[in-house]
Amino acid sequence: HQLYISASIGISRAQAYSTPEVLQREGYTALYHAKKTAKGKWLHFEPSMAAVSPERLEMEMCLRSALAKNEMRVYYQPQVKLASGAICGAEALLRWKPEGLGTISPAAFIPILEETGLMLEFGRWILQEACRQGIEWRRKTGVQLRMAVNVSAVEFLNPGFVESVEQTLQETGFPPEFLELELTESLLVGDFTQARAIFDRLRGLGILTAVDDFGIGQSSLSYLHELPFHRLKIDQSFTAGITDDEKSRPLVENIIRLASDMGMSTIAEGIEHQDQMDLLRELGCDEGQGYLFAKPLPAEDFLGLWLDHTACCTAKMKR
Ligand code: C2E
Ligand code: MG
Ligand code: MG
Repeated sequence: HQLYISASIGISRAQAYSTPEVLQREGYTALYHAKKTAKGKWLHFEPSMAAVSPERLEMEMCLRSALAKNEMRVYYQPQVKLASGAICGAEALLRWKPEGLGTISPAAFIPILEETGLMLEFGRWILQEACRQGIEWRRKTGVQLRMAVNVSAVEFLNPGFVESVEQTLQETGFPPEFLELELTESLLVGDFTQARAIFDRLRGLGILTAVDDFGIGQSSLSYLHELPFHRLKIDQSFTAGITDDEKSRPLVENIIRLASDMGMSTIAEGIEHQDQMDLLRELGCDEGQGYLFAKPLPAEDFLGLWLDHTACCTAKMKR
């Protein structure tokens, strides 16, 4: 492999009044602008540059050491078959618990991981952790659960992504046919040929693929022809409106039909109420995920819930 490495540089000059903090902040602000506007170049700090907030800078600094400090956790949210109520999978969701603070939601820090390139290291760790956990659960329960892992476009398009997934599968012994990678349409924005080549190699390994947040992206539907996904995840905004907004229901109905006609299954995200679940089941949606079943849970709580749930389903079937 040939690797091409580039750098963006932000420069700040010490003035008589400068403190190390000011210098660092100005340098960082210039770097931030260099990355955003001129990739691979350097920029001198100018007062006209919109300042990067100290909170963001602080967050980036803390994120750089978060894995080493063992502050990251993977939580798991059950995915349920709507016909039987059985738990058939788990989605791995990242959580950050810096010392002395509460849990920070991924929406607040994933964009920073993506912008800084840290996402590659974090993504490898998340996949490793989720596969390791899946194998530990199998050892305890005798059942292999499907594990869904989110992959951001930055990771997916990074050279070496497929090799890294393959290596994790080998190291952990996790079966590829139980691993589902959740991809968003954002990865289709760039070089489609490249995306398709990566996609084909993943499928070649036997890995499952799902379109996350289906229906809210801006790409044309034609990609579904080229990239045969296994599953569409109906975005939670549609689920939220399905019982009382007359436009959501036909949309969901048609997404389910489209998926079925193209040989894909469907899972609805963000199910919070029983009537949403009932309607989705009636419309033929295969699976669901949401607070109605459970919030994302730490691994040990997920296992407890799963065992209780399985015992309960088995008892119902015997009756
Ligand atoms: P997503 O993959 O679409 O995940 C679903 C989000 O909806 C999760 O938010 C989940 O906690 C939340 N959710 C689940 N059920 C319900 C419900 O019934 N109602 C409501 N209102 N929300 C529900 P979370 O964990 O905050 O994650 C947000 C996003 O951050 C994820 O959206 C995903 O795009 C990203 N993300 C999370 N973990 C990872 C990760 O490990 N890697 C990458 N690349 N992205 C991740
Ligand atoms: Mg997801
Ligand atoms: Mg989603």
